[in-house]
This record gives sequence, C-alpha cells and structure tokens, in this order.
Amino acid sequence: MLITGGSRGIGAATAVLAAKAGYAVAINYRDNAQAAAETANAVEAAGGEAWCVQADVANESDIMAMFAALDARFGRLDVLVNNAGVVDKKARVQDMTAERLTRMFTVNTISTFLCCREAVKRMSTELGKNGGSIINVSSAAARLGSANQYVDYAASKGAMDVLTIGLAQEVAAAGIRVNAVRPGLIDTEIHASGGLPNRVNDLAATVPMGRGGSATEVAEVILWLASDQASYTTMSFIDVSGGR
Ligand code: NAP
Repeated sequence: MLITGGSRGIGAATAVLAAKAGYAVAINYRDNAQAAAETANAVEAAGGEAWCVQADVANESDIMAMFAALDARFGRLDVLVNNAGVVDKKARVQDMTAERLTRMFTVNTISTFLCCREAVKRMSTELGKNGGSIINVSSAAARLGSANQYVDYAASKGAMDVLTIGLAQEVAAAGIRVNAVRPGLIDTEIHASGGLPNRVNDLAATVPMGRGGSATEVAEVILWLASDQASYTTMSFIDVSGGR
C-alpha cells in the first residue's frame, strides 16, 4: 500500500492500520523525514514492513521517481491512498491569487491524477497486472464549499470527487476499484498549517456528534475500502464527519 502524505495525520494512522492488516507500507512524505521515520517505527511495532519515500507530489518528476523506486523495492502495487493535501490561510475568493490557486490545485488535485495514472499502469488486469484499489482522501468541504474559509481547497477536493466518479468507471473492468473518503473536522496538524491550530475545538459544537474525529477513525474506513470486504464497492464516497 502506497500512502501519499503517509508520515503524519490521517496518512500515518492509515499506515499503522495497514500494517496490522498485513500490508507492506510505502510512506510518502515531502519534508519531515523525522515524522516519516516515527511512522515507520510505529508500522514496524505493529508487525508490518515500512518503507519511507520522499517525494513532493506537486512535482511530476518526483512522482515518477517515487513509483520507479516502488517498483524496484516491491515490484507490485495493490493499494494507493491519495492522501497528501494542503490547506491555506483563511481568505475569500475575491482575494485569492493565481499563485495560491496553482499551489492548491497542483498539490491536492493534479498530484492525485498523476498518482492515479501511475497506479493504474501497475494494477490494471488489462495490462497483465493483478487489479487493485485506489482510495482518494477528499473532504466534506467538497460538498460544504468552505465559504469565507478556503473555497479553493473545497474546489480542489470537488475535482478529486469527479475524478473518483470518472476513473472508477474507466477501470472497473480492469479489476481496479476507486473510492473516496470525505473526512470532516479531524484532529491533525493540518489546521495549524492553515493558521487555525484550535479549529477542531472551536468548531466541535457545530458537528452533530459534538466533537472532532480522530485520524484513526478515518483510517478505519480507508482500510475497509481497500479490503476484500468492499469487493463490490466502487465509485463510492464515505463521509467520516460526525454528521456534518
Ligand atoms: P497533515 O496532518 O497536515 O499531514 C499532511 C501529510 O501530507 C504529511 O505527511 C505531509 O508530509 C504530506 N504532504 C503535504 N504536502 C505534500 C506534498 N506536496 N508531497 C508529499 N507529501 C505532502 O494532514 P491531514 O489532516 O492528515 O490530512 C490528510 C488528508 O486529509 C489531506 O488530503 C486533507 O485535505 C484531508 N482532510 C483532512 C481533514 C482534517 O480535518 N484533518 C478533513 C478533511 C480532509 P510532510 O510532513 O513531509 O510535509
């Protein structure tokens, strides 16, 4: 299982649950090698095989190098989790620069397209491979819109959702299932990176369940979508958002 952004947050929780389920786990990260190493230790403590791979998924040549290294290391890919993603500071659409929009769509959306492209080549039964499963980590923002916060982020996730719908149909007959999870307010460091470290607590009362979720609560759904228990599930979306 290759998890983009597998070093921290939802990706790291997914890596640990994947190890418990018996996967060898490729943990992609961009900058924070120490966090990746700590997640690799947690994977190994859970009895799994961990392999850390640095690559900025905003960069196609990094993606190509990551998949080439994956081929050399494992020779196969069964599950891709497109999880790497970023937010930005609170802003209204009327104030968004082209530079901001380009970063948002490159990191969150174009990276997902490119990683899906490379995964399909390694999974498609039409190409003599064994089939597989792709899980896109979208967001409840894709249906909420994130007005006055980051509509660009919401739109980047909306595009991921449409990719999920279209690609799922393209590759269903090639043994590949494509699904998405849409987390709500999840307690990770992503909110601090957007300048709002207390965002989960501040908005908890607006969630019908009255609390934020944990990264592990999202990872549980990702692992289910990857598993044979989800063998007839493709082109599907699971909201993990406490009713929000
Ligand atoms: P996080 O705690 O900020 O972790 C982000 C991870 O992505 C890190 O491992 C980071 O690696 C990696 N990453 C970021 N940019 C990257 C790039 N260009 N190339 C490769 N890796 C990159 O985030 P999170 O909260 O777990 O979010 C994970 C996913 O869930 C994102 O797609 C996010 O949009 C989505 N999501 C989160 C929430 C939430 O409330 N937390 C809600 C809905 C959806 P480095 O540390 O090396 O930079």
